[in-house]
Amino acid sequence: MNACERKYKRIGDSMQISFQAFGTYNQIMAEVDCLPLLEECRSLCEAIEAKFSAFQPTSAIAEISAQAGIRPVAIDEETFFMLKRAQDFSNLSKGAFDITIRPATALWGIGKKGDYVPDSQDLEQLNELVDYKGLVLDQKNGTAMLQKAGQQIDLGGIAKGYAADKARDHLVQKGCSSALINFGGNIATIGEKQNGESWQVGVQNPLAKRGEFIGTVSLTDQTMVTSGVNERFFIRDGKRYHHILDPRTCRPADSSLLSVTVVGNRSIDMDALSTALFVLGPDEGSKLAIQTGCHALFILTNREIFATEGFTKMPKRKV
Ligand code: ADP
Ligand code: MG
Repeated sequence: MNACERKYKRIGDSMQISFQAFGTYNQIMAEVDCLPLLEECRSLCEAIEAKFSAFQPTSAIAEISAQAGIRPVAIDEETFFMLKRAQDFSNLSKGAFDITIRPATALWGIGKKGDYVPDSQDLEQLNELVDYKGLVLDQKNGTAMLQKAGQQIDLGGIAKGYAADKARDHLVQKGCSSALINFGGNIATIGEKQNGESWQVGVQNPLAKRGEFIGTVSLTDQTMVTSGVNERFFIRDGKRYHHILDPRTCRPADSSLLSVTVVGNRSIDMDALSTALFVLGPDEGSKLAIQTGCHALFILTNREIFATEGFTKMPKRKV
């Protein structure tokens, strides 16, 4: 399926649209009456992808990176909102989520450069560039600037969550009262299923094929986001290299976790948090989950499952 292709499927009383964006598959399922709205949501998604991609040379994000260490760049309100949210979560997580991770994600190129592992020296040189404190947002003048030449923005850790929120808001605004949005594992729900039951959403077993779940979570108007080692990775010399990087080392985060799933209200927030909690690991991560009022479920590399309150209904205790 290329970016323009889309598919419709009827599921019971609902319609589902599938399309590709953000390098992944996305689906929205809603009442049949909402069909025209599904197309609008797809367009919304494609616009967000184009606007916030680090790869679009004409995007404001690319411009901020190009002007790093040189000058502030004028940005619109939506870009300001995204950068501010990413900056807030960088601060909250003390840099476990780092909006300036891009030089490291670009060097690794996980999912793009085969089993390439960068030299330690090259990675060490990135340490001073990967520093969220270098992003200066000026609300009064509507500008953003990266302080050090070579710094670059990466919104890959929150863009899908933001898109899920936008799709949900759009559907609600147009009167849709029941929908399930799944943007590459970022789940957002509206209301309940049409039969009045809450949405049942599976938590992926990170050691099994896609679609094999360790249990399900009931969601009504909530959002659930997972970050895990199974999304984008390669294995070299028996070692797994995945796409969530620890900004302190600029290497794949090694926090004794296979995945983290978070449940809360806004998908952009849960997307940032799932990435942050993955880097922090279960101890520090659960503290941040409680502090931010979300529920988190950690699947550890020793296959144990550890959850904060709210996830206690998970049936299996080991994957
Ligand atoms: P997925 O993209 O599989 O849903 P995440 O939401 O955890 O997973 O986002 C991973 C993406 O976020 C990476 O591809 C990269 O672009 C970016 N990223 C990786 N590590 C970090 C980090 N520590 N802080 C912020 N963004 C990150
Ligand atoms: Mg994320």
